[in-house]
Amino acid sequence: MKMHLVPGIDCDFHKWSCGLVVTVEDLYSPSTFGPSEDSRCACGELTGSEHDGKICGQCLVDVSCDSRQIRRVRMGHIALNALCRHPLDADTLVRRFPIAPVDLRRGKDGCVNELGRDYEELVKSASRLRKRVGEDPREIGTAHCTGVTGEVDQALAQVVGVQASPAAATQPPPSSLASLLPELALTADPALLSVIRSMGYALECHGTL
Ligand SMILES: [Zn+2]
Repeated sequence: MKMHLVPGIDCDFHKWSCGLVVTVEDLYSPSTFGPSEDSRCACGELTGSEHDGKICGQCLVDVSCDSRQIRRVRMGHIALNALCRHPLDADTLVRRFPIAPVDLRRGKDGCVNELGRDYEELVKSASRLRKRVGEDPREIGTAHCTGVTGEVDQALAQVVGVQASPAAATQPPPSSLASLLPELALTADPALLSVIRSMGYALECHGTL
């Protein structure tokens, strides 16, 4: 089977997402990104391995015996309220973007890492854009043309680790991501897939395994 990376589009980002992120606090929401402890929901209503596999009716958090696996896989998305430039392809405009799994955004010590801070900046710049553009759907398509999305374009480029480029160009996938593809074909590890997707890439597959 041949796999290659292409820039993802809005409907991909929506399909992969487990929840909408609007505020910085949402970036750490256990109902979107997974429980912080094994065999326990966020509010504690469901505690113990007998509840594994259930979703708490109060805090809407999944209970799992392997919460770490969930935190490495589950992604969210941000709604941008205007068409912004896809950081990997200047010709593609997006109104959503994936948010990486929470464990990718924290170090081993549990503190927010550099990537996590980049996502926090993205959420803050999207919020400023929302105030500028407002909720008027007529503005959504024109905001990019009027040049108000520059700050969000920059923040998107920052989270995927590329330079924001106004020139129409598709960024080649970094070799670190491309090197994940053979491993993904071999292991079908959903955490690897989430790493690739959270960079804004979709996977195109030709043939079967
Ligand atoms: Zn609960």
